[in-house]
Amino acid sequence: MSAPPEFIVATSAGGWALFLDIDGTLLELAAHPHTVTVDPDLTHLLRALYEKTDGAVALISGRTVADADSLFAPLKLCVAGQHGAERRDFAGGLHLHAPPVDGLRRAAERLRRLVSEHPGLVLEEKGMNLALHFRGAPLLEAELVPLVEQLVAELGQDFELQAGKMVLEIKPTGRDKGTAIEAFMQEHPFRGRVPIFIGDDLTDEYGFALVNRLGGHSIKVGPGASAAQWRLADASAVRGWLDRLAKKWQTRCDTPA
Ligand SMILES: [Mg+2]
Repeated sequence: MSAPPEFIVATSAGGWALFLDIDGTLLELAAHPHTVTVDPDLTHLLRALYEKTDGAVALISGRTVADADSLFAPLKLCVAGQHGAERRDFAGGLHLHAPPVDGLRRAAERLRRLVSEHPGLVLEEKGMNLALHFRGAPLLEAELVPLVEQLVAELGQDFELQAGKMVLEIKPTGRDKGTAIEAFMQEHPFRGRVPIFIGDDLTDEYGFALVNRLGGHSIKVGPGASAAQWRLADASAVRGWLDRLAKKWQTRCDTPA
């Protein structure tokens, strides 16, 4: 897999729809999801891309929509949160996929007890999604996987396990990053454009598969097997590439060079 092709940079912004994962893609991974820092240049860059594409930029994240908003305030982009379980469209409408969460509350209690016994673990409770981070206790992975698998099995068909980098998540079934991008692509201002999706983790493979099917461009960040067509080395390379798009993409009003 090589870097994304130059013709993407050398065209008009009006033909593209940009879908971006946040952690590990726009931002370096942090020890805790709440300790990431966003420098103002990144927010300015996203705003420039939003303006060039007439709004066809969406964040596609495991974070909640509210969390994504707070990271890039005062920007309010289109967002799919919790791996597609919640989605805010261009008009500001919120689409929720909310299975019954009684069982999820019981699973959260079990995980809270576990985290209280192991200081290296962090539990994120996002509403419809529980994320158990073990970056601070990597040796526990072998023991955590069967435990979370058991919790997911007890929840029945409404929830499933989503593995990621040093994280095990319990998420609603039926929604993923692919279904989120697909929904955006049926709406203004994304409809009729060619999608580009950049992501770094296993959950992003759903987005890569969808974008490949739609004839778009899928870009994997970092090493590892992937269905993506292109690759960028790390979050800093993503920033560099997006910066070139923001500078070189012609808007419809620009005179072609
Ligand atoms: Mg990521």
